[in-house]
Amino acid sequence: MNEYAQVLENIDLKNKNTYHIGGKAKYYLTPYKDKIIPLLTLLEKENIPWYILGKGSNVILPDCDFDGAILSLDNYQSIYIQDDLCYVEAGCSLNSLVTKTLDAGYINLYFLKNIPGTLGAAIQGNVGSDNHEIFEYVKNVTIIDENKQIKTLTRADIVASYRFTEFKQRKIIILKACLELKLGDVLEAKKKIISNLDRRRKTQPLDTRNAGSVFANPPTDSAGRLIEEAGLKGRKEGGAEISTKHANFIINKENATSKDIKKLISIIKKEIKEKYDITLELEQVIVDW
Ligand SMILES: Cc1cc2nc3c(=O)[nH]c(=O)nc-3n(C[C@H](O)[C@H](O)[C@H](O)COP(=O)(O)OP(=O)(O)OC[C@H]3O[C@@H](n4cnc5c(N)ncnc54)[C@H](O)[C@@H]3O)c2cc1C
Repeated sequence: MNEYAQVLENIDLKNKNTYHIGGKAKYYLTPYKDKIIPLLTLLEKENIPWYILGKGSNVILPDCDFDGAILSLDNYQSIYIQDDLCYVEAGCSLNSLVTKTLDAGYINLYFLKNIPGTLGAAIQGNVGSDNHEIFEYVKNVTIIDENKQIKTLTRADIVASYRFTEFKQRKIIILKACLELKLGDVLEAKKKIISNLDRRRKTQPLDTRNAGSVFANPPTDSAGRLIEEAGLKGRKEGGAEISTKHANFIINKENATSKDIKKLISIIKKEIKEKYDITLELEQVIVDW
């Protein structure tokens, strides 16, 4: 394995996700450039299951240990800008992507600033804010597919909608994407970033252990508003709590487990269905192994 990746063993996953929950992983692998496919072949041959993780800011990891390998794309972080296009690798943070594109005079990715994740996961979940989503600007995405083949898919080939893409349902690895860029008033874009951050600080529990919005907003409504109106703010289960600051956030208040968080999720879903006949869809990813 050592020739294909940096190998760490018996790694506590609590330090690898923003909820700070989960057990240990037998292996934590950071593949070297161009070595992912031979690594996947080896893992398959040795019957070692794998799971790819970015910054862990959108996952609910299970409490049990993982007798498998976590893959990290930390060696895949390059960004290259040419002719109003940005070629960015999956391990790149969204913050670096926005900083670099703004430095080059391009403003349209401003809404990704302060989303604490990687490009790969952003593509997988079609992340967004401020009434924009990343797929507005995706030209193509390069993946390693289920047969370990590298494929470049154009925007039209990819099923994507609000906070959803087909990649959420496939065992693939996103390697990189090509994004369309638009020139504009950089100072204005920076002002919008500052005012968005200000709004987040006022309305979201940013100083707690959480993984962003739990549910996607239902059409024409806000999940947070419904949960608050249903009187669920502050509801606790074990060490987890529905944030008193923003009802669509669950926080790890004190040694919460995955079980605590999932219990709160099912309470919310049940209450909202009963009260408003609305089925809330999860934005966060429940991981099972
Ligand atoms: C305070 C806070 C604010 C947030 N604000 C927003 C927001 O405004 N808008 C928004 O949309 N989200 C928001 N999020 C959620 C989260 O930051 C985004 O979903 C982010 O894109 C997740 O990136 P990550 O690298 O942490 O992904 P992870 O949590 O590590 O992974 C998420 C999923 O992506 C998969 N994945 C990761 N990398 C790859 C890859 N290379 N190929 C294939 N699959 C991959 C994982 O397997 C997992 O299923 C917020 C989160 C927090 C904590």
